[in-house]
Amino acid sequence: MTNQRMDKTSLKFLREWFKKNAAELPWRLADLDAPRDPYAVWISETMLQQTQVSTVREYFIRWMKRFPNVEALAAAEESEVLRYWQGLGYYSRAKNILKTARIVAEHKEFPFTRKELEALPGIGAYTAGAILSLAYHQREAILDGNLVRIFSRLYALDFLPTDKKSKSATSAPIDVYWNYAREVADSPKAYMHNEALMELGRTVCKIKNPECANCPFHADCKAFAENRVSEFPPSKKHVQKDWHGTVLIIESRDHKILAIHGGQKFFKNQFTLPHFESPRNATAGIPAQAETFVGPDQIESVKVIGKFHHGITVHKIECDVLHIQTNSKAPASRNAEIQWVDIKHAQDFFANSFCLKALALL
Ligand code: SF4
Repeated sequence: MTNQRMDKTSLKFLREWFKKNAAELPWRLADLDAPRDPYAVWISETMLQQTQVSTVREYFIRWMKRFPNVEALAAAEESEVLRYWQGLGYYSRAKNILKTARIVAEHKEFPFTRKELEALPGIGAYTAGAILSLAYHQREAILDGNLVRIFSRLYALDFLPTDKKSKSATSAPIDVYWNYAREVADSPKAYMHNEALMELGRTVCKIKNPECANCPFHADCKAFAENRVSEFPPSKKHVQKDWHGTVLIIESRDHKILAIHGGQKFFKNQFTLPHFESPRNATAGIPAQAETFVGPDQIESVKVIGKFHHGITVHKIECDVLHIQTNSKAPASRNAEIQWVDIKHAQDFFANSFCLKALALL
C-alpha cells in the first residue's frame, strides 16, 4: 500500500481472496458479481446489526419464506413481524422495518439514492451504503465494525470513529474512517470490495486471534508489520449500568395478564409487563405500583415467583418477578395503553425476551 492508501493491487488481492473464500449465505448469490435484491439486502443487513451471521441465517430464511417481498411485509400485522424478529433483540429495528416497508410499498419502488434511503425509518448510512452498493452496484461506501477494525489495523489508527477528537489525526475520527471506506468504494467493483471487507473482518481480521497469515493485506498492514495487532482498534470505554427492578405479572380470575404500553423503563413503544426500579429481594407485599392497575380489594394473592437476569443495551438487569392474582375478571380495556391478554397467547403477544423470561417463571 503506497502512502497509506488502498491501492489497486491491494484491492485486486482482496477480490481474489473473496472469490476463493466467500461463504455460502442465504442472502448471497452464487454469482458474486450479480446485483442483489434490494429488499433482501436491507433485511439481511438490518438483522446482521449487533447479531452473528450464524444466528441470522435461520431468521433470514424463515423471514423470507413468510415475507418474500416488501409488499408481503407491508401487509403484515406488527405483532406478527415482531414474532418473526423475536430473539434478535433491539425490537425497534423490526418496527422500523415494518414502517419502511409500508412507505416503500406505497411508492411501489425501492429508493435508489442515499438521500431517499436515509430518510426512511431505521436506515442509516451503513444500511443505505450496503443497499446501494450490493443491490444497485453504485460506488457507495459502507462502514461497520468489521471495516473499522480492518482500517484501524491496516493504518495503525489509535482512535475510534466514535471518539470526539484524536491526537494523531487532523480530521474528525469519523471522517478519517469514512474517507478510507470511500476510497475502497471508489471503483466499479465497490459492491465486491465492501462485501469482501465485511467477510474479511468476520473470518480473518477477527476481534480475537486474527489470522494474518491468510490475509490478503498482510504484506501492507501497519499493525502487523509493527507486531502491534493486539493494540488496534483501541478498546472502547464501556459504561455498563446495573439496574434492579421488579416485574409484575398481574393475572385476572379469568386468566388474563395485564399488558401495558408506554410509561415503563424499557420497551417504551410496545406492550410490556409493568416493571419498575426497586431494591433487591422483593417481598410478597403489594407494591404501590400495582395499585395503579388494580385496587387493593381486588387482589387475592401476591407471590414472589423468582428472579431473572437480562441485558438491554448498556443495562445489566436483575429483576424479581411478582405474580399478583386478582379476584375479578379482566375488565374491558379502558384505553389503548392497557390490554388484558389471554394467558394462552401471552408467549406470542409479549414479543421480547425480557417479558418471556418473567413469564417463564409462572
Ligand atoms: Fe487484520 Fe492481520 Fe490482515 Fe492486518 S494483516 S488487516 S491485522 S488480518
